[in-house]
Amino acid sequence: MRERLVVGNWKMNGSLPENQLLLDQVKSNVSTLRSARCAVCVPFPFLAQAQQLLSQSSVAWGAQNVSQHPKGAYTGEVSAGMLNEFGTSYVIVGHSERRTLYGEDDALVAAKFRAVKQAGMRPILCVGETLSEREAGRTEAVVGRQLRAVAEAWAASPRGECLLAYEPVWAIGTGRTASPDQAQAVHSCLRTILGEFIGTEADDVAILYGGSVKAENAAQLFAQPDIDGGLIGGASLIAKEFIAICRAADR
Ligand code: PEP
Repeated sequence: MRERLVVGNWKMNGSLPENQLLLDQVKSNVSTLRSARCAVCVPFPFLAQAQQLLSQSSVAWGAQNVSQHPKGAYTGEVSAGMLNEFGTSYVIVGHSERRTLYGEDDALVAAKFRAVKQAGMRPILCVGETLSEREAGRTEAVVGRQLRAVAEAWAASPRGECLLAYEPVWAIGTGRTASPDQAQAVHSCLRTILGEFIGTEADDVAILYGGSVKAENAAQLFAQPDIDGGLIGGASLIAKEFIAICRAADR
């Protein structure tokens, strides 16, 4: 059976006292989940706090970005090896905010994806189309291009190591969610594309949906056959919402 996973993407939010409150509530409430797993991707300075608060819990932690370089004169950057030293399990790569605001292209995303894998962590590759790309009927072409950019690195991975998140750009932080049918159609297409380079192992890859997931719409999305959990932005900062979303993935 494929793993089911809910990952919070805190983006550039949080403070030491706020995080403590949020994580205390999350860890005590998700400990009873039967099958779904839960993780939070925090800003770099909070990794040590996440490690300290979560290491004896069922909640994993991750980062939201990484350098493609292992070390050197790259002022302001953080390497995969450094993330690993803080017990980081997951690293988001290719988030649309990184692609749009920081000009990350497919080649750079693929280099980051490789760096995460080489350091022994699990990359969560984000793909997604803009509204104009969807309206032009280019959704499959866009997400296919973004996914195929990591094909070689993905194919070289041990089974089950890499994760994929479909995040339509028009649904991120907008309150506008893809309908379960719309999301399922893209997830199914992504699984088919994955099959081009990992064959039947594509059936074992968890594909998360992200884009304005909330407690009220999570269950319907997660009921779709190819939606294996969620990547959650805004709602991951509200303990009650995030816990309810984790429970919706638990079946
Ligand atoms: C995200 O940024 O990954 C995301 C899904 O954000 P939101 O849930 O706020 O739309």
